[in-house]
Amino acid sequence: AMENIVAIMEELIEKIQFLAEDKQIRLSAYFSEDVIEVSIEKHRIVQALYNILINAIHYTNNGGQVQIRIERVMKDRQVEHVRIMIEDNGIGIPDEDLPHIFNRFYRADHSRTRPNGGTGLGLAIAQQNILVHQGWIEVRSKAGEGTTFLIFLPFVAGPAMCSPN
Ligand code: ATP
Ligand code: MG
Repeated sequence: AMENIVAIMEELIEKIQFLAEDKQIRLSAYFSEDVIEVSIEKHRIVQALYNILINAIHYTNNGGQVQIRIERVMKDRQVEHVRIMIEDNGIGIPDEDLPHIFNRFYRADHSRTRPNGGTGLGLAIAQQNILVHQGWIEVRSKAGEGTTFLIFLPFVAGPAMCSPN
């Protein structure tokens, strides 16, 4: 269905705001337009964005920052993709872990040794849910400095390209 990805993000930010506040993490958001429509299965995209946002808060120390941006990406004067950026200034991901973070059950060393035990499924699910929309995820990170996830979604998707389950 056609959904406004900006409204979806605003709803999500509202839902997770208290988690950020608990850690005095500042969530800031910039949207290039108020309405950016994409053809998506809402619940899958919500799940993907939620998993990445929760990670950004979880793997950022108290007093940190998480920045969210949504922009349209043009090519040949046409909107080709929507780019969603989720950037934190948290603990970062060591180079040796970076190629594996989308694997199911993979957790970087720093999180395995943490008390709050996740399962290592969050990013695998997020990636799967983006891929079924013919989108993709990119990640840049530096240990000790922070992490940026970029999610690309096609602006105009063909009809019924996503399987229902
Ligand atoms: P869960 O299944 O509860 O989400 P998880 O958070 O450990 O568990 P993923 O969300 O798949 O699993 O993330 C995989 C690993 O990638 C994490 O364990 C963590 O080491 C690393 N990671 C993910 N996002 C970030 C981030 N924003 N900053 C630092 N490390 C991160
Ligand atoms: Mg996670």
